[in-house]
Amino acid sequence: MGKLKVRIEKAQCVGNARCHAVAGTLFPLDDEGYVAIEGFTVRSEDELLARRGARACPERIIKIVEEEI
Ligand code: SF4
Repeated sequence: MGKLKVRIEKAQCVGNARCHAVAGTLFPLDDEGYVAIEGFTVRSEDELLARRGARACPERIIKIVEEEI
């Protein structure tokens, strides 16, 4: 089984903060309100929250991917 990772197409972010509203600890925003990161490895205890954050993005630019290890 691989590790789950979040990948964010940061350049496409429109700054509506939906991801941050449901999972603020996982999806920090920059000073202008756009998502501040391009991705991270998901800790197992954060999996549900990460998926909720991804689903919350109306632009569909947050992807959950499984990487082989
Ligand atoms: S929900 Fe999507 S578009 Fe909105 S701030 Fe988060 S990454 Fe950007």
